Amino acid sequence: MKVFYQYKELNVAKNKYPAKSIGLVPTMGALHEGHITLVKRALEDNDLVLVSIFVNPTQFDNKNDLKNYPKTLESDLTKLQTLGGNVWVYAPEADDLYNNKIEPRVYNFGKLETTMEGAHREGHFQGVATVVQKLFEALQPTVAYFGEKDYQQLQIITALVRQENIPVVIVSCPIIRHEDGLAMSSRNKRLNIKERAMAPVIYETLQKAVALKDIHSPPQIESWITEFFAHQPEFDLEYFSIADIQTLEKVSALNGSKTRAFIAIKLGGVRLIDNIKF
Ligand code: AMP
Repeated sequence: MKVFYQYKELNVAKNKYPAKSIGLVPTMGALHEGHITLVKRALEDNDLVLVSIFVNPTQFDNKNDLKNYPKTLESDLTKLQTLGGNVWVYAPEADDLYNNKIEPRVYNFGKLETTMEGAHREGHFQGVATVVQKLFEALQPTVAYFGEKDYQQLQIITALVRQENIPVVIVSCPIIRHEDGLAMSSRNKRLNIKERAMAPVIYETLQKAVALKDIHSPPQIESWITEFFAHQPEFDLEYFSIADIQTLEKVSALNGSKTRAFIAIKLGGVRLIDNIKF
C-alpha cells in the first residue's frame, strides 16, 4: 500500500505503474466494512485501486456536522493495509484538491437534487458533485465505485458523468449492514449505547413497509411510517419517501414501476439514512 497526500505525487507513481484499469473508491474515511467491500469489489475489477479519504467541506451545510465528522486516518490505513499492495490511498488536505478556493462549482441536476437529501441539506449535492469531479480530474480513474447506501448521490454522480462527458464508468454496490440490520455508516459511531440498540428499528421499519406494499398504496405506507415514528420520541423523522429509482420522485401507485423506499431520520441528534428496494 502507498499513501499520498498530493495528487501530483500520486500521478508520478501511477505513470510508472503498469495498470490497464484503475478503480477509484471515494470515501470520507472512518472506514467500515461497507467501504472495505467497495474496495474489495474494485480490486476484483482493476489492476490498481485508489481510495480517497477526504472529508469534503463543500458538501456540509452544517458546520457542526463537519466538525464532528469522525477522522481516523491511522486506523483507516491499517484496515486498507490488509488488502494488499494494489491499494493506494490519497488523503489530501483541502488545498490540494481545491487549490486555495474551497467553493462548490455550479451544476444543474434539476429535481434530482431538490428532493430528499437535497431538500434537507442545502447545497449538499453541488458539493458532492464538485469533489467527485475534482477527484476524477486529479486521479483519472477508469471506474469509480459508489454504495447504494447513498442512493441519491449515486444518481447525482451518474447525471454528473453524463452531463460533463466524463469518461469514468460508475459502478454501484449494495448496502452492507450490521447483523442486526443497521446500515453501516461512519455516523453510527456517534450513537450512544442506548441509541445504537434502538437503531435497527430503522431497517425493520423499511422491511415492514415492503411487506405492506401489496395491500396499501405508497401514500398510505408513508402515512403509516410517519405515524409510527411520531410515537417514538427518540427518533426525529426527516423524510420517508417511496420513489422512482431514476427520478427519485414520489410515486402514488407502484404499477410495476421500479421503486425504492428512502428514509432519513435523526436518532439522538445523529442523522442516519437508509433505503430498500420495493
Ligand atoms: P462515505 O465515506 O460515507 O462518503 O462513503 C463512501 C462510499 O462508501 C460511498 O459511495 C457510500 O455510499 C459507500 N458506503 C458507505 N456506507 C456503505 C454501506 N453501509 N454499504 C455500502 N456502501 C456504503
